[in-house]
Amino acid sequence: MGEEDSIPLNPAPSQPALRSQWVRALRPPITRPDDKAQANTLIEQEWTIEGNPIQTAVVFLINRECPWNCVMCDLWQHTTPNTLPPRHAVLQLKNALKKIAASSPQPVERIKLYNSGSFFDRRAIHPQDYQAIADALQGFDSVVVESHPRLIDQRVGEFARRLKPSLEVAMGLECADDTVLRQLNKRFQLRDYEEAANRLKHDGIAHRAFIMIQPPFVDPAQAQQSCMKTITYALDQGAAQLSLIPARPGAGALEALQAQGAFSPPTMHTIERCFEEGLNQAQGRLHIDTWDLHTFNPCPTCNQSRVDRLTQMNRLQTMLPAIHCPSCS
Ligand code: SF4
Ligand SMILES: [Zn+2]
Repeated sequence: MGEEDSIPLNPAPSQPALRSQWVRALRPPITRPDDKAQANTLIEQEWTIEGNPIQTAVVFLINRECPWNCVMCDLWQHTTPNTLPPRHAVLQLKNALKKIAASSPQPVERIKLYNSGSFFDRRAIHPQDYQAIADALQGFDSVVVESHPRLIDQRVGEFARRLKPSLEVAMGLECADDTVLRQLNKRFQLRDYEEAANRLKHDGIAHRAFIMIQPPFVDPAQAQQSCMKTITYALDQGAAQLSLIPARPGAGALEALQAQGAFSPPTMHTIERCFEEGLNQAQGRLHIDTWDLHTFNPCPTCNQSRVDRLTQMNRLQTMLPAIHCPSCS
């Protein structure tokens, strides 16, 4: 999709710093976690490409807010306005590991260490904590952290070498279109993503890509095509795993963009088509975020069965028969 196809953005400012201010001004009021809050944890299942279950822990470290202000991001709600001191992340991680050990009867093989921003943001996770974090993670087979592509540098390889488990880095690609990336305020372009992917590959580190279904500034009629283009692009960049995330309002800016006609949440039909077609391209490697998926379908007759089908397809990595609903199909 080219510049001429994108939806007019007014009145959101086009200059990145001003757009960040605009995004921040539209945020709903919330109570942020206090400095001493415990990191949230959960246990979920992921699958190998062969379809074997991997017991996975997710730890949501609390740290300073991500310095970027993407229009669709609501992760800042789980961050602190200021940088926390060194060792804070280590203490949170150790507490979280105790919670995980107490709550999971089965051995946990993989851990996702997410921090509502970038693990390699020096002011979020202090580099002097890398060794202690690596030491705490030695019992896992694999570790996933998330990072903005522009923060992928030699420190990633250095951190990977400290770890006994393998490292995977998740990056928010969102949409393989420079115009849309600029409008989303992602503050990177595709060449930055390619540079990051190449560096990770060079260092023997896997990466996974987060891809939005129908992000703002993508014409809903083009959403499926745009998603497929992004899946192909991520695979070309060597992504080992791809996660589809339907764009959903809640961050403030998206509601404003929706009122301007520059955003609408995808329908369940679009979500289904993107996942179905994506699975044809990336079977064994493509998953969809099923959190709150029912909110995309207003039909009470088929809502649960559609969510169940996509959840099953996530697990089985294969197409299941389509749902034919007497009320809405
Ligand atoms: S880079 Fe990621 S965490 Fe930071 S504002 Fe954008 S979407 Fe949110
Ligand atoms: Zn229905």
